[in-house]
This record gives sequence, structure tokens and C-alpha cells, in this order.
Amino acid sequence: MTSEELKRLDREVIWHPYSPLVGSSDPILISSAEGAYFHTADGRKILDAISSWWVNTHGHARKEIADAIAKQASEMQQVMFAGFTHEPAIKLGKGLLEILPKNQSKVFFSDDGSTAVEVGLKMAFQYWHNMQKPKTKVIALDGAYHGDTFGAMAVGERGTFTEPFFPYLFKVDFVDFPQPDNEDKVIQQFREIASSGEVAAFIFEPLVQGAAGMRMYSPELLERLFGICQEYEILTIADEVMTGFGRTGKYFATDYLSVDPDIYCLSKGLTGGTIALGVTTCSKDVEKAYHHADITKTFFHGHSFTANPIACAAANASLELLRSQDCQKQLEMITKHHLEFYNKVEDHPMVAKIQHLGTILSIEVKSDDATSYTNNLRKKISTYFMERDLHLRPLGNVIYIIPPFVVNAEDLAKIYNAIMSFLNEINQ
Ligand SMILES: *Cc1c(COP(=O)(O)O)cnc(C)c1O
Repeated sequence: MTSEELKRLDREVIWHPYSPLVGSSDPILISSAEGAYFHTADGRKILDAISSWWVNTHGHARKEIADAIAKQASEMQQVMFAGFTHEPAIKLGKGLLEILPKNQSKVFFSDDGSTAVEVGLKMAFQYWHNMQKPKTKVIALDGAYHGDTFGAMAVGERGTFTEPFFPYLFKVDFVDFPQPDNEDKVIQQFREIASSGEVAAFIFEPLVQGAAGMRMYSPELLERLFGICQEYEILTIADEVMTGFGRTGKYFATDYLSVDPDIYCLSKGLTGGTIALGVTTCSKDVEKAYHHADITKTFFHGHSFTANPIACAAANASLELLRSQDCQKQLEMITKHHLEFYNKVEDHPMVAKIQHLGTILSIEVKSDDATSYTNNLRKKISTYFMERDLHLRPLGNVIYIIPPFVVNAEDLAKIYNAIMSFLNEINQ
């Protein structure tokens, strides 16, 4: 089919995510991708500065992962995972436990970030059921995003995106998003809810809230919240779907903490951003509540494609790349360049706030409109950068960079220069 035919058909039959059916600009037709770049059907090369919705880590069309997928696909593509098992899944489980904190003991597979979160919540709720200690409350942070399925929506920020579903979302206690000037208040709110003794779990995006605009908060504050959780026997669920696998400069954002969560939810970078796969891991303590032959204490959850061998093979190849010297050097390189740009742009008159951790850098642009996803700068920002072949899809008035780890210094300079030009332009 020609590009024109494809574009016409797209308009006719496809419903794209997070896109109004009227008024959206036509999607860009991508024909291939390599490294940090997309190649469009009409010959443009677009730098993917946000890793295709934060998933890509080792670059597009990465050969090591492509080979692993091809090899696995020619040997075994799918086998049900209840009553059967296979090497790609076992290898991946072992590999993950090698890089996760020592308290983690079991690996449960699902399909994506949202299902990894659903599994984490269900695992925590049934833990208390199995322990015969009824606890039903959940604590989350204001501005949280944990996915688009119902449980994940329930523990996320209540806003425009979820409003049609409010009547169907279970009740969650939200505490203010921790900032340097409200930490004591957050602790007080948290303690008040926790002290009811009815809280089953605390779910959070460690150190960086992605969808809220790459907002960051301090490891010390999170450690204090963990302290309260320990005091009142509350399970901690780290949603590392976005922050996992090197994003923050370490394997996991929780590696910046001196305490370990009970449950991890992982996806996005798990397969290097090549195929959907979700994983939820839990500690020995959580596992113990399920250590029964008693069928009523079994975790009854599973998906048709649980631990799909091709996805697991991709994840194994990705994990090997992540652990390589080359990748670790790239993480250091990106972190160093981000920091230099941070220092350069920090005092720019159009910068309201700038934040940085590892490969993530976010800049809140000054705006009369209140900060939100629908901010009137959003369209202006994406258009400005897309005209320069840079894919920088903002979150409202927040411009952020989350590049594939394979970007080079030249690519990064291109991004920084374009951001600087944009800021100068709107400052006039
Ligand atoms: C993207 C994301 C999810 C949802 O993952 P999907 O694969 O899109 O379902 C959950 N939690 C966080 C922190 C995310 O960034």
C-alpha cells in the first residue's frame, strides 16, 4: 500500500490512544526505526527523545534483541503457563531476582504495566485475606499514574481522564505530593490514615511521578513513609514501570533508598521496550501468606499470554544489555550531559522548575495557564519540536527528555539546543 492509502485507511479504521477522534493532527506514518531515530514514510529521521512513551531503552531495532526474538519465535512461541514452564521465563525470573533487592523472592508474569499493577494490588489485598487480618484501605500519592485498567485507575489521580469511571473506582486515600515545603504535612496525613490500622497497602511511583509531569521527590521522604508502613504493617508496592531498568541511573529507583519495598511492578523497559510484558515480584514475607496447599489461599490470577516465551526472550536479551559495561557507561554519559544542561538552563526566565534524575530531565515552562495536561502550551511545544524532527511530546507545559540509552552526545546537544531556542523564542 502507498503512504497515502495507509494514511487514508488509518483515518477510517483506527482509534488511537489518548487522541480525540476530532481535531487531532494526523498521526505520523513510521516505516522503520533504528537506534534513537524513527524513519518516516516520507523520508524524515525523527529523534525519539522520549523513548516511545518511555519504553525503549537499548534503541530501536536493536540487533541483540531482534535476534533473541527471532530465535525464540522459531523454537516455541507460546505455551500456557499453568502446569507448564519454559527456560526463557525461568532465566528471566532468575535474572530479575539477581538485580532486585535481596528481599524479593518470587516473580509473577503478566502483560504490561497496568496488569503488573493489578497483580501487585491483588497480591497485597489477598495477602491480608490469607492472613485473616481484614485490611481494606489503600494509600497513594496525589498525581499518581499507575495505568488504565480499573484497579490501576482507582489508585491513580482522579481527573479528566478517569472522570467517566469515578462511580466504578474503589476508594483510595491520597496524600499530598511531597515537596520540600510540605514534607511534615505529608508525613502527618500519612500517619493519620495509617494509624487506623486498616491500610493494606501503599502504592507509589518511587522518586519520579511520570504522567504527573516527571515530578520528583526525595528518597528521604519516601524512607520516612516506609517507616510508618513498617510501624502499622502496611505493604509497600513500588510501581517501577517507568523508573525501572536504568531510567534513573540505577537499575531501580528504589536502589536510592536504604529500605526495600514488599512488591515491585515492572514493565516498559523490561523487554527494552520491544514487546509488551509485565512482571510483579514479591518478598518472602508476602509469599509466605500464600504458602498453603489450601485452594482458598491460592492466587487465582493469570492471563492467556502469561510469560510469553518470545517476550521473555526479548527481556533476557534486554537484561544482558542493561548489565553490560557499555550500557552503564551510556547511563553515566546521559546523566552527566543532563546535569550540564540543567545548570545552563536552570536560571532561564521561562523555566518555572527543572528536575533531573539519571536519564530523566524535565522542565516546567512558565505559563499563565495552570499546570496540567491540557495546558495551552502543549500543542505549541510538540509542534515546535516536531518541525525540527525531534519527538518531545510534552506533559502539559512540562518538556521532558527520556531518551533511549543509545543516544549519543550529538543527539543530546541537538535536543538541548532546540529546547533552549524554544525557551528564548517564547521569552520574546
Ligand atoms: C506507563 C505506566 C503504567 C502503565 O503501563 P502500561 O504498560 O501502559 O499499561 C503504570 N505505571 C507507571 C508508573 C507507568 O509509567
